[in-house]
Amino acid sequence: MLSHGWGRWPVIRGDLLPVTSPAAAARLVSAGPAIARGLGRSYGDSALAAHMLDMRPYDWLIDFDPDTGRLQCAAGTTMDDIVSVFLPRGWFPAITPGTRFVTVGGAIASDVHGKNHHHHGCFSTHVDSIDIMLGDGSVLTCSRDAYPDLFHATCGGMGLTGVVLRATLRLVRVPGSHIAQTTRKARNLAHALEIFQAVRGATYSVAWLDCLARGELLGRALVTTGEHVAGPRMAVPPRALPVPFDLPGVVLNRHTVGAFNRLYYARERSARAERTVGYAPFFYPLDGLRDWNRLYGRAGFTQYQCVIPHEGAMAGLTAVLERIADSGKGSFLAVLKELGAANANPLSFPLAGYTLALDFRIEPDLAPLLEALDAIVLAHGGRVYLAKDARMSADTFRRGYPAWERFQAVRERYGAHGRFASVQSHRLGLEAW
Ligand SMILES: Cc1cc2nc3c(=O)[nH]c(=O)nc-3n(C[C@H](O)[C@H](O)[C@H](O)COP(=O)(O)OP(=O)(O)OC[C@H]3O[C@@H](n4cnc5c(N)ncnc54)[C@H](O)[C@@H]3O)c2cc1C
Repeated sequence: MLSHGWGRWPVIRGDLLPVTSPAAAARLVSAGPAIARGLGRSYGDSALAAHMLDMRPYDWLIDFDPDTGRLQCAAGTTMDDIVSVFLPRGWFPAITPGTRFVTVGGAIASDVHGKNHHHHGCFSTHVDSIDIMLGDGSVLTCSRDAYPDLFHATCGGMGLTGVVLRATLRLVRVPGSHIAQTTRKARNLAHALEIFQAVRGATYSVAWLDCLARGELLGRALVTTGEHVAGPRMAVPPRALPVPFDLPGVVLNRHTVGAFNRLYYARERSARAERTVGYAPFFYPLDGLRDWNRLYGRAGFTQYQCVIPHEGAMAGLTAVLERIADSGKGSFLAVLKELGAANANPLSFPLAGYTLALDFRIEPDLAPLLEALDAIVLAHGGRVYLAKDARMSADTFRRGYPAWERFQAVRERYGAHGRFASVQSHRLGLEAW
């Protein structure tokens, strides 16, 4: 069967093997190297292998404590399941990525961050314990107290330490299903970073940035902040409209993307606009368009997401944006967020600074551009996000994630080598081919 990640590139041939019970998982793990797979929302090759353990059928809620918000669930449970069941009861995931179609196992393995990282950290910050199947089929419960090395390596470890079977996480109380949203217009990058500093107290913040603007306008953006509020009634996500076919690759070019970006920036007329919106358009704007990954055509696309620490952020992001604007490539949506301090997990992505994410259609001359961006990011002390990656070199990975050797030592200690491997782990030199 042909499989791919959300970017639809690369495509590989592999078997998708359903996990329905721990016994089934143990049987599959003992059969040879494999990698767990959730909803396949990672963009690149982290959930791709000849043998993929399909965690989607392994999805049930186990226990919930309405006094503390502590939820125990199987790893294939999705963010959508959690929001649908618990938001009407006044609870919400402490951390959510920009799509609700991810599994709990996938959120742990990528240690995902949301629009509130500067206040509330990564997904793992709100995970108390994880049941994980190791390479010999045994199951360990790890936490910050029990097998802490395994716990930290698993959070952000891209499925390479074992198969997460269940987790205990903490949800947060919210007053309702709406968000009081404020959008501010930033003239350029310096202004956008100034606004991020001014709104640091906001729970959520994110900016959409016009990656094709140049000169004085380089980095112009709409910076949006949000707070949970009650709203008039329970918000339900709008029905997702499908993208029924692959868009021809030529539709996305410097002119169409540039025009879209100009219109998007212009849609906010005043310097500051306030409105109350449902949780879905605020947290999950792209989920409103089903299969939007087909917009980039048959060749697929890749998302480039980097983080640059505060000290080098203005210079580094300027260099990255200039290089992209010069190339004329780049996506409709470039997203800029401020991240808080790094955590103790060797492969977690966030560092205190700014993260920029944007999509590029796969085309023959893309590789040199992204390699040039890697060099700029590394020179400014940053790194590239593994959950989006499909092409970074082993050298770029090691320089961006200096704790990779500590990660490998944990894998060695718990028998993961030769048992858990993805196309990405081979490419990054974490597993021999
Ligand atoms: C529209 C969109 C918006 C996004 N926004 C954000 C964002 O704001 N912040 C952010 O951090 N990420 C974001 N992402 C990325 C996404 O959150 C991660 O890629 C997440 O890991 C996907 O979860 P999944 O269940 O689809 O996992 P998959 O893509 O199937 O797998 C991802 C990784 O998790 C591992 N894995 C999956 N299940 C298990 C398991 N049970 N045990 C062990 N390992 C497992 C896989 O081996 C793989 O390495 C976004 C993705 C999309 C498509």
